[in-house]
Amino acid sequence: MTDKGTGMRIGQGFDVHAFAAGDHLVLGGVRIAHTHGVAAHSDGDVVIHALCDALLGALALGDIGRHFPPSDPQWKDADSRLFLREVGAMLADHGKRLVNADVTVICEHPKIGPHVPAMRANLAADLDVEVGCISIKATTTEGLGLTGRGEGIAALAVTLVGPSTEA
Ligand code: MG
Repeated sequence: MTDKGTGMRIGQGFDVHAFAAGDHLVLGGVRIAHTHGVAAHSDGDVVIHALCDALLGALALGDIGRHFPPSDPQWKDADSRLFLREVGAMLADHGKRLVNADVTVICEHPKIGPHVPAMRANLAADLDVEVGCISIKATTTEGLGLTGRGEGIAALAVTLVGPSTEA
């Protein structure tokens, strides 16, 4: 990897899924009861999808759709934590570790705050880092746009990765 300076690299990710018939969402690997589910080939976990894209972006390895194509039947209804663990393995293969990740969930409903500790614990476990390396926040869009109208849910993620071993 051509980053001979500090060896630090950043990445960003963004994901949206439309609400659809259903009774729960999966966010950060946590099943959350809701008035809707999401339309998705996998479990539609926007938190993990945005985070995977941010990690892949830091490695300049493309996006989640390239590595886990929705056209591939093996990912139907897949637990997105599988994707995250796989991307974590790619990080290690490239001699990198996650320094920190900051994720923002964007929706009007459901309330995200009560689920943040469990989500952070899941993501930290899947990436083999301390919980303190993972931030999850939530915001609404004040009733505006696709999330404001309750048409779907979105997430943004930023990551910093660094060398996996001390120089
Ligand atoms: Mg997605």
